[in-house]
Amino acid sequence: MTPMPPIDPALREALVARLRFYRDLGVTDFYRRPVDPALLAAVPQTQLGAPGLDSETWEPPSQSSSLQENEPIPPRKPIPAPPAILAEIKPDDKAAALQLIQEDIGECTRCALHKGRNKLVFADGSPHARLMFVGEGPGADEDAQGLPFVGRAGQLLNNMITAMGLKREEVYIANVVKCRPPGNRTPEPEEANTCSPFLFRQIDVVRPEVLVALGATAATYLLGQRQPLAGLRGRVHSFRGAKLIVTYHPAFLLRDPRQKKEAWADLQIAMRELGLKAPERG
Ligand code: SF4
Repeated sequence: MTPMPPIDPALREALVARLRFYRDLGVTDFYRRPVDPALLAAVPQTQLGAPGLDSETWEPPSQSSSLQENEPIPPRKPIPAPPAILAEIKPDDKAAALQLIQEDIGECTRCALHKGRNKLVFADGSPHARLMFVGEGPGADEDAQGLPFVGRAGQLLNNMITAMGLKREEVYIANVVKCRPPGNRTPEPEEANTCSPFLFRQIDVVRPEVLVALGATAATYLLGQRQPLAGLRGRVHSFRGAKLIVTYHPAFLLRDPRQKKEAWADLQIAMRELGLKAPERG
């Protein structure tokens, strides 16, 4: 096979950003349009080689991108319902119960993501939260600090929480995977399915009234099905006793601020379910 020419790093970054943009929209399938030979002839030969991919830097497409819509995520096993004993956890015991989950995770090496992490990102927020946000996985800032949503996307999430009339300390924030995927790629199904049972245990302990899935990956692993985000937004799902609302990931909103209005509509559904009113603008 002919080796691929090296790809310009800036071009690669732009292509990755564009793919993330489509992924967050729920677009996972691409087809190739036949190229008009007249257009091809007009492109200088030096440019034709540029979009090639260096075999050393090329990462194979994520398995998750090959999932078809409405297809269960392999090798996902049925998720047991929350144990009845959890109904007996007293509010005062929630912090200790979360601590036990964290100790059980320990210096986890259960999936390949442990190899590249600096810090495992367990969660942040109140064990008594009525509202819980679930994202995809830690990024570079989160990996460095060991806390979820502390980078630019985290700042936007903080603003979204404030707009809802809440403080960050009043909600609970966690991710589908607790270790940063290399290059911020989407977690593979095996990684997400290995890690997400810890998330489900956290949900069982916190028992939020409302869960907000931030982005397609969180929605996929909470609902157990890959579906376009557009088909999941705007309605109330249920998951482990909580009402589940699906909206865009803040990182996507940073790339396309025009969708903030749509995200606000989703958050208003969550507010309605919680009986919250947006604070008056002073
Ligand atoms: Fe363990 Fe989750 Fe980290 Fe994988 S992502 S190593 S399962 S904590």
